[in-house]
Amino acid sequence: MESNIVDVAIVGAGPAGLQAAIHAARKKATVVVFGKLEASSIHAAHVENYLGVPGVIPGAELLAAGREQASRFGAELREADVLRIDEGEGKFLLHTETGPCQARTVILATGGARKKLKVPGEKELLGRGVSYCVDCDANFYRNAPVAVVGNGSAAVDGALTLLGYTPQVFLVSERLEISEELRAKLYQSQINRREGVWVKEIGGVSAVDSLLLTDGSRLPVEGVFVELGAKGAIELAMNLGVLLDADTMTHIETNKRQETNIPGIYAAGDIAGQPYQMAKAVGEGCVAGWEAANHARAQRRGDAV
Ligand SMILES: Cc1cc2nc3c(=O)[nH]c(=O)nc-3n(C[C@H](O)[C@H](O)[C@H](O)COP(=O)(O)OP(=O)(O)OC[C@H]3O[C@@H](n4cnc5c(N)ncnc54)[C@H](O)[C@@H]3O)c2cc1C
Repeated sequence: MESNIVDVAIVGAGPAGLQAAIHAARKKATVVVFGKLEASSIHAAHVENYLGVPGVIPGAELLAAGREQASRFGAELREADVLRIDEGEGKFLLHTETGPCQARTVILATGGARKKLKVPGEKELLGRGVSYCVDCDANFYRNAPVAVVGNGSAAVDGALTLLGYTPQVFLVSERLEISEELRAKLYQSQINRREGVWVKEIGGVSAVDSLLLTDGSRLPVEGVFVELGAKGAIELAMNLGVLLDADTMTHIETNKRQETNIPGIYAAGDIAGQPYQMAKAVGEGCVAGWEAANHARAQRRGDAV
């Protein structure tokens, strides 16, 4: 058996990911959970409709208890974002902010759809220079000046990807919150960093022509990529050929076992569809963790043959 492969890699440390970790780890699978505590949408919420919890409880408290529970059962929690996932011979290679991780199965539990900037011009110019997906749209901006907006790993990774298409890449961020490894890559690159500022308005009439920043300066760009937080599950899924729900195209399609169309890849929680509720997220997380552990065990037996 290859000892450097984990049975279950979980992308997301919210209710779905942590519950999946608990169930997979209790089935004796080796488990690694990637994700940042404060990025879960329950972190800042107050919950009063979760079974067995009387009164109103801060979401942060529930998460802290869930993390402690998951690690007590043996799951390893890593405060790092996953940037990309590749498949090879039925196994998966996760490229993360802090290095690679190989896994037999992957559970996508990254929470809801991409966040918006909520500035003038964003909605009006969507699809005409405004994009939420570097991996999908970079090719449209070959040799054109572009800007990526965001403070997290998705923005930096997106800006580095865009350098393969155009030499003119701005990165606009209020305060970068990324790993030291990713920061080193950014500082060594040709990306034009505008730190300590934010976007006031996206300019243009029929297409984007500029970006007005909060310090009053204006960047002449043809493309604006809004990449807030971590890489969304949709982009991670797209790279693997995971199918989306045909009605919304914003959720990952799963069956009752939380399996996607790719064997070994599961999805759970908000990313697998409505209702966006913790009870549903932990229910799906339980099923995904259970199924992924079984799948990994069967694969381990195959490896040993
Ligand atoms: C203001 C507010 C109030 C709410 N109140 C309630 C309530 O009272 N009751 C209720 O049941 N529900 C409530 N919800 C909904 C609830 O928060 C969600 O349904 C629940 O958190 C979904 O869990 P999840 O694990 O699917 O996603 P999330 O909790 O959003 O967790 C997503 C995780 O994925 C990680 N992640 C994302 N991308 C990556 C990546 N590329 N690499 C690594 N990690 C990644 C994040 O860091 C995070 O840890 C509320 C939501 C909000 C916004």
